[in-house]
Amino acid sequence: MNINQNYFNLKDSYLFSTIAEKVEDFTKRNPEKDVIRLGIGDVTLPLAPAVTDAMQNAVAEMGKAETFRGYRSDMGYDFLRHAVAGYYRKKGVALEETEIFISDGAKSDTGNILDIFGKDNVVLIPDPVYPVYVDTNIMSGNKIIYMNGNEENGFLPLPDYNIKCDIIYLCSPNNPSGAVYTKQQLKQWIDYALENEAVILFDSAYEAFVRGDDLPTSIYQVDGAKRCAVEVCSLSKTAGFTGTRCGYTIFPHDCKAGDVSLNRLWLRRQSTKFNGVSYIVQRGAEAVFTEEGMKQTRQNIDYYLDNAKRIAAALKERGIWFAGGENSPYIWFKCPKGMSSWEFFDHLLSESNIVGTPGAGFGKNGEGFFRLSAFGSRENVIRAMERLEI
Ligand code: PLP
Repeated sequence: MNINQNYFNLKDSYLFSTIAEKVEDFTKRNPEKDVIRLGIGDVTLPLAPAVTDAMQNAVAEMGKAETFRGYRSDMGYDFLRHAVAGYYRKKGVALEETEIFISDGAKSDTGNILDIFGKDNVVLIPDPVYPVYVDTNIMSGNKIIYMNGNEENGFLPLPDYNIKCDIIYLCSPNNPSGAVYTKQQLKQWIDYALENEAVILFDSAYEAFVRGDDLPTSIYQVDGAKRCAVEVCSLSKTAGFTGTRCGYTIFPHDCKAGDVSLNRLWLRRQSTKFNGVSYIVQRGAEAVFTEEGMKQTRQNIDYYLDNAKRIAAALKERGIWFAGGENSPYIWFKCPKGMSSWEFFDHLLSESNIVGTPGAGFGKNGEGFFRLSAFGSRENVIRAMERLEI
């Protein structure tokens, strides 16, 4: 039996297990200390009532012979694709419903998408980055070129025309840096992708955190994107679906490799390997896009954004450089006194009893930086910022 040798090229991911071990060790040694966790990238507020009501109705339908549903379209139910198209219309983006594929979340699609691309592609990935892009490309044996995010470019790298590539990963608002590309910056990427005949895989998992009209919430708000970009999105952060699982990926019909439509390839891939998302979950997802659902889920995001603002204000007060903190649930800052990410992790845990995420876990350019997340409770954020010793 041959196995995929590329798996041996993956680095073991010790980030979250090391954090857990260090925190456990600290709390064992200091049982009286009240440790506040601001490291997590998972939401904490419950699903909105509009969503749970819709799912409960759907459960009842599944329990009656007249309304029971079995296998259905692997692209997703028409009602949900219709709702997603309506959501994009409000952003000023016209989509055909056949361009929308419902998924069980952005992680699966960002990984599975490599099925439709051939071998030997050159892949451009920002550093620091959401680790799934890197690991899935290593599994596929692709050549990765990293583009440097740093303090100088505000962790928003721009194209370098000396580099030729086939696939480009962009994530905005970004995990881990919280930085958001402007329309002009995305336009530069689109022009570059079109010139290189490359595809942009645009991860907009945190789009709902963007407030104000000047920053894009979808790459399709920028001219030319439909010819070169696939957009992956999720209700995980938009509506607290991290445990419920639903997302969507847009393959515009005009996005092609030569004269082959990526949409057709993805449809073929999905109909072979995917049997769709549960009816109950899709009804819950549909409810997110109703007026009431939008209002309720936006309230939760406002709550996290307010947390982010408080963390950003505390860092500003202490004169620390940071990115994010607005239009994003993440605050990404420079470790003080030249400390490494892990040195600062230990310092923050022992001096302030706060847990965050060392930037080094997101790539080499993350070394010397640190991520705090706004997904905790307001009370914990306030207490943590009061005692933040930097
Ligand atoms: N993309 C980014 C940038 C993320 O940070 C995450 C989760 O943290 C995901 C995708 C995964 O989202 P999902 O829960 O939809 O799989």
